[in-house]
Amino acid sequence: MSNRTLAIIKPDGIRKNLIGQIITKITEAGFKVKAVKMVKLTKDSAAGFYEVHKERAFFKDLLDYMTSGPCVPIALEKENAVADFRKLIGATDPAEAEDGTIRKLYAASKAENVIHGSDSDENAAIEILHFFSRKELLDISGYQF
Ligand code: GDP
Repeated sequence: MSNRTLAIIKPDGIRKNLIGQIITKITEAGFKVKAVKMVKLTKDSAAGFYEVHKERAFFKDLLDYMTSGPCVPIALEKENAVADFRKLIGATDPAEAEDGTIRKLYAASKAENVIHGSDSDENAAIEILHFFSRKELLDISGYQF
């Protein structure tokens, strides 16, 4: 069991001015912020991040959405991080998300759902390295990847 996961506050979360509220929910749930930045993804970078979905009908819409404004990727640490964070954000479709979850509180739709969370320990490591270099993780937080 890994203690790391990657969150991304997606462009709609930034447009809705929710950075503060969302990070508060995350830290109140016991996660520690180990690294954070604001970035604007390129189409290539977004396509690489979501490569698993490249055959899906919504892939182009997903890239348009994820490149429509800045994102805030956050490397998080907590025991059982991946599963606990998925629970905190709720189902992909906010209509199906449990009360109190970040998507239930703030997301408009299945497509525009304000936040990402890694779905496995293996992907958490890959996704953290998509946004943060090994050197900066080591310098900022003492993370060894
Ligand atoms: P997640 O792990 O809960 O984020 O969900 P998925 O891995 O299934 O999908 C990745 C992201 O693609 C979601 O968070 C949505 O932003 C987007 N997405 C999922 N399903 C759809 C869809 O049917 N249409 C569109 N436009 N976007 C979708």
